Amino acid sequence: MLAAVGVGEIAARHVMKLDPPGGLDEADARAQSLRPPQHWWAEANITPRPTPLPPARLTLQPDRAPSAASIERTLQVEKGDTLIDLLQRAGASALEAHDAVDALAEVFDPRDLKAGQALKLTFGAGSAGPGRLMQVSLPASAAETIKVERGGDDVFNASKIAHPLTRQVVRAEGTIRSSLYEDGVAAGLPAPLVVELIRAFSYDVDFQREIQPGDRFDVAYERFTDEAEHVVKSGDIIYAALSLQGRSLKLYRYAPGGGQADYFNEKGESVRKALLRTPIDGARLTSGFGMRVNPILGYSMMHKGVDFGAATGTPIMAAGDGVVEKAGPNGAYGNYVRIRHNDQYSTAYGHMSRIARGIRPGAHVRQGEVIGYVGMTGRATGPHLHYEVLLHAHQINPMSVRLPTGVKLAGRELDAFERARTRTDRMLASLPAADKLARTAF
Ligand SMILES: [Zn+2]
Repeated sequence: MLAAVGVGEIAARHVMKLDPPGGLDEADARAQSLRPPQHWWAEANITPRPTPLPPARLTLQPDRAPSAASIERTLQVEKGDTLIDLLQRAGASALEAHDAVDALAEVFDPRDLKAGQALKLTFGAGSAGPGRLMQVSLPASAAETIKVERGGDDVFNASKIAHPLTRQVVRAEGTIRSSLYEDGVAAGLPAPLVVELIRAFSYDVDFQREIQPGDRFDVAYERFTDEAEHVVKSGDIIYAALSLQGRSLKLYRYAPGGGQADYFNEKGESVRKALLRTPIDGARLTSGFGMRVNPILGYSMMHKGVDFGAATGTPIMAAGDGVVEKAGPNGAYGNYVRIRHNDQYSTAYGHMSRIARGIRPGAHVRQGEVIGYVGMTGRATGPHLHYEVLLHAHQINPMSVRLPTGVKLAGRELDAFERARTRTDRMLASLPAADKLARTAF
């Protein structure tokens, strides 16, 4: 799919395509309200009765039968409508309506019919009113239209027609005031992309202690628009940067050898590491910069772990691949899980409200797998995850752990990555941030 990090040529195009937030929709809504009230179906194109041919044509083509015309009707689906009823009300016979809906059901669940959808029907012209139902088309989503057609053998056949989509690269940047999640969404990033972004940075960033008010983010991502320039879906993050106090991190999406895409830093090292620095859904950490919230402590000699304040029930993830060594109540730790990652490192998780199913000594876990849920069992004054990294069974400061990176591109693969990175950087230079664009559009 995405062979390289960025595609420069779309950069210029996107500039003209950014709608002011809600702008088009508002305009559409205003236009709608100016229109006269619509009937439950609207005639389009041709009247329901056979159009009498103009006299001039009749004299020129006396043999041409008027029944050659077809009749098209557009129906607006209303709440409670069923397809079969709609087709029949528009003039299809009960048999035709059933046959057409049967065919349509092969590619579209009729229960997915939504109020407001516009159904387009084509009938052959009959002697009085519509003749045989020939075709039904239904824009099932912004991405595709379902079409049912009467074939030469009189049997209805259904097909899906994909709408042509335009890929754009959009940039969103902003300052963190409450959390990367909230401010990312506020800057226009689709929520699933912010979650992915936080996950990608969770190998490197302690999302509770390292993110501070005033830190900045900058993200370039894909989105797809239909012919009416409405955003249909978002694609992948292509580039993301976090500027934290004291350090900045960049990641580029890249698929080595055209295979599985992953995120790499500027040096061509996979951002994946053996252990996650934030082994919890970073989007759900207590906002308001946790250090001030009792009992959220960083690592000290007195407190040999780091705490992540989050609501009870927030999923806790295995920081790395490994084997569960302990899982169960453990004194002041409450419900506790310890995972052995290799002959040096283990990680431990305390105060869980509940340990996930299947997490028991001997079980193999994958990095990111949910092993339990935040709680306040044991000695805890509020819901939080107590997280420890152990080196040869001694707790160490997770921030001091120097873990080897995962994949490190080298040789030709590194050259290819660097070219792709340069293309992305060049594209970014020509791609103003979305908030600036929105401002100029107003
Ligand atoms: Zn703790």
